[in-house]
Amino acid sequence: MKKISLSEMSVKGKRVFVRVDFNVPLNEKQEVTDDTRIKASLPTLRYLVDEGAKILCASHLGRPKGEKKPEFSLKPVAERLSQLLNREVKFAGETIGPEVESLKAQLKDGDILLLENLRFNPGETENDEQFAKELARNIDIYINDAFGASHRAHASIQKITEFVPVAGAGFLLKKEIDFLNMATENPPKNYTVLLGGAKVSDKIPVITNLLEKAQKILIGGAMAHTFLRAKGFDVGNSIVEDDFIAVCKDIIKKAEEKNIKLLLPIDHVAAIKIEPEVTIRMIKKGKDIPENMMGLDIGFETIELYCQELKDAELIVWNGPMGVFEIENFAAGTMEIAKAVAESSATTIIGGGDSVSAINKAGVADKVTHISTGGGASLEFLSGKKLPGIESLSEA
Ligand code: ADP
Ligand code: MG
Repeated sequence: MKKISLSEMSVKGKRVFVRVDFNVPLNEKQEVTDDTRIKASLPTLRYLVDEGAKILCASHLGRPKGEKKPEFSLKPVAERLSQLLNREVKFAGETIGPEVESLKAQLKDGDILLLENLRFNPGETENDEQFAKELARNIDIYINDAFGASHRAHASIQKITEFVPVAGAGFLLKKEIDFLNMATENPPKNYTVLLGGAKVSDKIPVITNLLEKAQKILIGGAMAHTFLRAKGFDVGNSIVEDDFIAVCKDIIKKAEEKNIKLLLPIDHVAAIKIEPEVTIRMIKKGKDIPENMMGLDIGFETIELYCQELKDAELIVWNGPMGVFEIENFAAGTMEIAKAVAESSATTIIGGGDSVSAINKAGVADKVTHISTGGGASLEFLSGKKLPGIESLSEA
């Protein structure tokens, strides 16, 4: 199998299987409520249409667990894609089998056929050889453009590459790889990583990997409280993962040894529970969080400190909100940091599902250099893990 980039391939008249990430939210009326992911695939699809390829698109949607469940059908996605491309998109209703083969055979240059949800077949998540072989039947070129699914060893991501003559990366996947490589391989010296979010355990591999590369690591969100505990602060009822206090201590020590600035919140917005109407209390700089309260956002002095620390960055990577930004009273930290990131002259990269919602909520998404389309995949990439969907393209 050869690995070449999409722009170097001659695709005219070829049957090209494009694995896209059309895992979009649908409402009860089966309408697409957010088409960001469909739009993200357009550069690759438009290119293939213009070059006269015969295009087969495939994706998963939700977790139908190997069964055909109509509420997870990709049919509404075919309609939206058709509107966005301003051309007909045929819909197969199946993923493999004689009907799909006959539709494949009828494709003319520039035609697009969208297959049904890949996860209607249990073979998809099982990385099943037989299913992959069927998907690859009569395919000349395989293109992976589904970054958001590339951390999964699934049939349409990994196994299929064993049965196609050529496998390469689409434009979206390539863009994700280029930007995330910047964060993990030879980043500039003034490199600041902002980490927050719910669980410190989710983010430990990212910190461990980036500890070698970043100049500053600024921590917020619930995960900060495990670090604060490691430093001997009382954090009241804040979310703490006790099993990770020792790991946090170790990370703090390593950062000191390597002369990396690892900063924790110095003040907090606290409340007795995570609710919109609850009374909030500001916990002043350096003070512990009272016994019955939870730290739910970074405080004003922390915001100021972090914004200051972001100023000289050439590269900023951000994953994880600074507080419970879904609730107005605990959103200021995340919103202010979002604005600071957006206004920075640095190259800015944001990954993580909730972080992307936060930057959208702040209304500054268009000022960010790169917003990753893959939550789990971007975290694994930043952790330095090899992603099956990327590795199988380079296993020539
Ligand atoms: P991402 O999806 O960007 O990787 P995470 O899933 O790790 O981010 O974390 C997002 C969640 O973390 C949000 O739902 C937010 O409410 C929650 N969160 C942030 N700070 C706190 C906090 N101090 N206490 C409890 N939950 C928090
Ligand atoms: Mg999340």
